[in-house]
Amino acid sequence: MQVNNRISIALGNGPDERLLSDIHQIVIHHTVAERSVQPNVTSANLEAGWRTNPGMGAPNARGGYHELILFNGNVDRNMQDRRRTWGAANQNNHTWHISLVGTHSATINNITQTQLNSLANRIAAAMQRFGWTANNVDRIVRHRDLPGHANTTCTHVNLTNVRNAVRAILSGTQVPSPPQAGTFAIGTFNADVRMTQTANVRAERNTSSAILGQLQSGTIIRVGTILGRNNSNPAYPLGSELWGGITFNGRTGFISLLLAEPVSTSNLIRIGDRVQIRATATTWATGETIPAWARNSIFTVTQFRNNNQEALLSDVISWIRVIQP
Ligand SMILES: [Zn+2]
Repeated sequence: MQVNNRISIALGNGPDERLLSDIHQIVIHHTVAERSVQPNVTSANLEAGWRTNPGMGAPNARGGYHELILFNGNVDRNMQDRRRTWGAANQNNHTWHISLVGTHSATINNITQTQLNSLANRIAAAMQRFGWTANNVDRIVRHRDLPGHANTTCTHVNLTNVRNAVRAILSGTQVPSPPQAGTFAIGTFNADVRMTQTANVRAERNTSSAILGQLQSGTIIRVGTILGRNNSNPAYPLGSELWGGITFNGRTGFISLLLAEPVSTSNLIRIGDRVQIRATATTWATGETIPAWARNSIFTVTQFRNNNQEALLSDVISWIRVIQP
């Protein structure tokens, strides 16, 4: 599973509209695409239709889904969590939308298990960002489960199976995921960003402090902590206010994140990465018990399987579920 960060190019990029705590439910959709006819349908294809669809808010249309799971199981991340999408009438203010490319109606099902694995992984990752736990899987519903939406075919995906898969991922049998890339938010980031313009590195989180040097457009650099201007921590941070801390020529500096974009792939867990098993982890991906001594221990990833959703760890030579950020 590969996560493509399209937030800066998808419909609907812009300032925050809500807090993560405003999100109360995750809604699953399908796009009604046929493998035989549209084997390579993409977010860009769908957006072309949304641009002219009054139901999607044309002419100021925005993506219908925060994330889209393609036929091959890869994922397009199209909208920031803090933005609303046009996914289901009267439900969008408090909903995070995710859709499967394909059809699972009452009579047709061309959704694959690979896609369903990605669905559970991405929902689990979103729930982690929202601060939800395995006990909150009842907040996952399908479009047709929403009040007033029962007549839609969208979608007949087996909800119990999805909830059980998400619960398994969130119940501790996974390596902690690195911080989420794809959106900037106040707090620890510890991920790479790419400069979208040449930018000054400042001594403080503002445009009036000393200039320590410059970063050229295209430079990729690690950002640690993100705060607002002058280290502020507003409850409702707007993108325009955010500053990232970096190490520059051996000292601490700061860049405006208005001039940078997240680099989503830099955070993916890769072969050779060192990962720590959670203290709360109970079972390996194979169902066998993780010995107490292995919990909290650090191992090297030596292989992946199941579309990068399970990693083989050095020393213990055991498979463990991972959440790819
Ligand atoms: Zn739908």
